Amino acid sequence: MKTTFELKEIRKIYKMGEHTVHALDGINLSIHHNDYLAILGPSGSGKSTLMHILGFMDQATDGTLLFENEDVTHISAARRAVFRAQRIGFVFQSFNLLPRLSVLENVLLPTSYSRKKETDTIERAHKALERVGMQHRASHQPSQLSGGERQRVAIARALINNPAMILADEPTGNLDSKNVVRILDLFSEIHSEGNTVLLVTHDINVANRTKRIVHVLDGKINSEEIL
Ligand code: ADP
Ligand code: MG
Repeated sequence: MKTTFELKEIRKIYKMGEHTVHALDGINLSIHHNDYLAILGPSGSGKSTLMHILGFMDQATDGTLLFENEDVTHISAARRAVFRAQRIGFVFQSFNLLPRLSVLENVLLPTSYSRKKETDTIERAHKALERVGMQHRASHQPSQLSGGERQRVAIARALINNPAMILADEPTGNLDSKNVVRILDLFSEIHSEGNTVLLVTHDINVANRTKRIVHVLDGKINSEEIL
């Protein structure tokens, strides 16, 4: 199986004056290509810290991080920015769509970071919107959409660069129960199309929709279950 991420004894320590917070306290984890897993834990357990490291937004204090078999533990901020922009698709609880841009323009945003400008980007954006069932709203503004529709657009945006992994931090946290089901159905579909998906959640019902649950507590992996 092709490995997307390999974490070995990953630690993240925050120093706050005389206080030291061990946000991640020796995490060992392998994420494979086409994995669909949930990081499940209560508030403060280190989920977002872990997501920031996997998303190349932050670096570990200690340990080793491999991405697609390459050691990325100590790469420069500039290289991290390239990985972040081109290889990871992000979905957030608050959708993070830019209100002054149309749905199509929001989906196109990650392509503006690409070094090589491709001519088929608009076509790819329309295809991404089609995959999430939002192609008919391409010219709308985010404010004209429901929460569930906004999250669909955010997922289309996460998919447009064909990333190595979709990282979603509490992606259903702002949705009503009907839309939670729809968005989780969509993630399942995206996973079955061959994508690697990691959901960060405190909600066991969300975690139960994935294939593998990694329980975290106090910056450590407590247990793991295959569903
Ligand atoms: P979760 O996402 O599971 O709620 P976090 O990863 O946000 O947990 O936080 C894990 C721990 O690290 C918490 O105790 C939190 O207070 C602490 N922490 C997170 N970010 C920082 C920071 N920038 N500075 C200091 N402490 C932090
Ligand atoms: Mg968090």
